[in-house]
Amino acid sequence: MTQTISINDSGRLQLTPLEIPSRLLLGPGPSNAHPTVLQAINTSPVGHLDPAFLALMDEIQSLLRYVWQTENSLTIAVSGTGTAAMEATIANAVEPGDVVLIGVAGYFGNRLVDMAGRYGADVRTITKPWGQVFNLDELQTALKTYRPAILALVHAETSTGARQPLEGVTDLCREFGTLLLVDTVTSLGGVPLFLDAWGVDLAYSCSQKGLGCPPGASPFTMSARAVEKLQQRQTKVANWYLDMLLLGKYWGAERTYHHTAPINLYYALREALRLLAEEGLANSWQRHQKNVEYLWEGLENLGLSMHVEQEYRLPTLTTVCIPAGVDGKAIARQLLNEYNIEIGGGLGELAGKVWRVGLMGFNSRKDSVDQLLAALRQVLP
Ligand code: PLP
Repeated sequence: MTQTISINDSGRLQLTPLEIPSRLLLGPGPSNAHPTVLQAINTSPVGHLDPAFLALMDEIQSLLRYVWQTENSLTIAVSGTGTAAMEATIANAVEPGDVVLIGVAGYFGNRLVDMAGRYGADVRTITKPWGQVFNLDELQTALKTYRPAILALVHAETSTGARQPLEGVTDLCREFGTLLLVDTVTSLGGVPLFLDAWGVDLAYSCSQKGLGCPPGASPFTMSARAVEKLQQRQTKVANWYLDMLLLGKYWGAERTYHHTAPINLYYALREALRLLAEEGLANSWQRHQKNVEYLWEGLENLGLSMHVEQEYRLPTLTTVCIPAGVDGKAIARQLLNEYNIEIGGGLGELAGKVWRVGLMGFNSRKDSVDQLLAALRQVLP
């Protein structure tokens, strides 16, 4: 006898078509996507093995090599947000028992520690107060002490707004046969970055910040040295979805099915990268620098100060000290509700102490700064 099961309608909302407020996203990310990129995402999907799509994947690979200034053959976009690309980097680079030295000066350094530990790394850390960066002497001492297989640094620490200099680090790493792994989530496209010249072996990023694309297709790259380590592994990569030995066959000559790529996000990423190439890297870096300096000047004129020393401030993300007696959360809420402007609050050690203001990709423009400064003039006590 067949039993009739009645449909549970409790989740069956009767909704009007989607309506989302239009916001100016000046927080730590996402930033607003470029209108041309949004048009691209609206294109009908083709199959993930369609020759037109495979050609687009090749274009993405080439453009990613350009924006990262690398010739790494294994340079792809991971289907997922920056965290997926971060996990791909750790999962492929780390073998259980590897000593991994991580520079922790903010929230994302800590995330690397957590992730590397989950993949069996023998994690060692060097730490700095949030907002500061490591110098070469400090890194050299730590490398000598721990002789790690991998040194991981966050180039652009989104929780603090600090830019970790990378020049010279690789020379220290080579002495100990250490691979250099770098988080470039908040720097790619907006901050000078020369992966090959700086000897970076593993890097990852995201689409929704300096590239001006929605989140979901995240840049990943591995040097020949890092690929060699991957090929010599004694154990399988402990994450099937992110295993580069498998994924590399989809992005490489074999074109073996691996997963159904989020086709429309790849359209968007391709367009975002095309626009960046059209502007030129040097122009994009200069634009980010010019607009952030205009922001800093405007904020100082309002009596506000920045958390990070100027030399190490990111052009993409600024941490602004919340003045004593001011309710930072209430100000951010007012900016959102009354002016449709999103800014971020502090994380971890900086919670309640700073606002985080992002000028990334398409949003790094004088008129976004003007809008924010005008709104702040109204809402600050
Ligand atoms: N690393 C850094 C430095 C970040 O700022 C972020 C996100 O803001 C991530 C990793 C994780 O990226 P996602 O949020 O796209 O997963």
